[in-house]
Amino acid sequence: PTPADPAFVEITVNSPEQMQELGRRLAKLLRAGDLVMLSGELGAGKTTLTRGLGEGLGVRGAVTSPTFVIARVHPSLGDGPPLVHVDAYRLSGGLEEMEDLDLDVSLPDSVVVVEWGEGKVEELSDARLQVVIHRTVGTAPSPGAAPGAPGAHEVGADGVRQVTVTGIGDRWAAVDLGVLTA
Ligand code: ADP
Ligand code: MG
Repeated sequence: PTPADPAFVEITVNSPEQMQELGRRLAKLLRAGDLVMLSGELGAGKTTLTRGLGEGLGVRGAVTSPTFVIARVHPSLGDGPPLVHVDAYRLSGGLEEMEDLDLDVSLPDSVVVVEWGEGKVEELSDARLQVVIHRTVGTAPSPGAAPGAPGAHEVGADGVRQVTVTGIGDRWAAVDLGVLTA
């Protein structure tokens, strides 16, 4: 697709359990060589989504935050691809630094999921799934006031996340991301 017409879907996620379920569904679309980039502020749910993704892929080991190790490899329990889970937050050197990590697996043979990878790891692949997690913020009227009237205050709906998934590159052109909303 062109940048103006990407494969795109938007999903409302109401709980950590639903976020993991989204990860499990996402896993069904993935194969070796795929790159998934996760964006969203600290605590948005990037690692929670990846945990479900690891379950869906059927990999060894529970997915936890890789912050202090930069990257963690979860081998497949079956004959699927391993999951390489990267936290690029402290990866100052970008791609070369990542390729120097000595991961014991080849990235083209793995599913690679990267948190905080913007501007750093895009060149790993000519295609990627871009997942953005937003904490939704709505407005609540003051008691007795019309919605949107002065005095309305912002409320963050606790536990609710808005997730957008965009497929970038030919790999995703014919993939129905709508299955993620099922
Ligand atoms: P990140 O990796 O983006 O920093 P984590 O997945 O580690 O975020 O943490 C997300 C936190 O937010 C967890 O404590 C989780 O229980 C909580 N949470 C609340 N609602 C949701 C939701 N809808 N989806 C994901 N996590 C949620
Ligand atoms: Mg995280």
